[in-house]
Amino acid sequence: MGAENAITGLTRGGTPWVPQFAVALDEAKCIGCGRCYKVCPRDVLTIVQRAIDDVDLDDEDDEDEDDDSDNSFMTLSNPMDCIGCEACSRVCPKACFTHDTAALAV
Ligand code: SF4
Ligand code: SF4
Repeated sequence: MGAENAITGLTRGGTPWVPQFAVALDEAKCIGCGRCYKVCPRDVLTIVQRAIDDVDLDDEDDEDEDDDSDNSFMTLSNPMDCIGCEACSRVCPKACFTHDTAALAV
């Protein structure tokens, strides 16, 4: 995304910073641990129960066996309220999030 037109914030001290908005969440990799939900300062995320059938049938590529909860996953239910703080990615143990800048609406 073009940096010139990107939404830019300021720290309290006046230093510019470019928010990295959550634009995608890999629901297949998500283990439903809820860490991102706890740290998100906005109402962006919602946890969803997997269908009972999916819990057993979609288990083919689980190299890691440290899953916290295979029966739920997080969704980006309200992405337009994201402030691009990246707290979700800092705590996510599975690197589920993709972030990007956003262009200023003109
Ligand atoms: S970047 Fe910040 S506001 Fe956006 S989803 Fe992640 S924790 Fe929430
Ligand atoms: S922190 Fe990562 S693995 Fe845990 S619920 Fe959020 S997206 Fe899923």
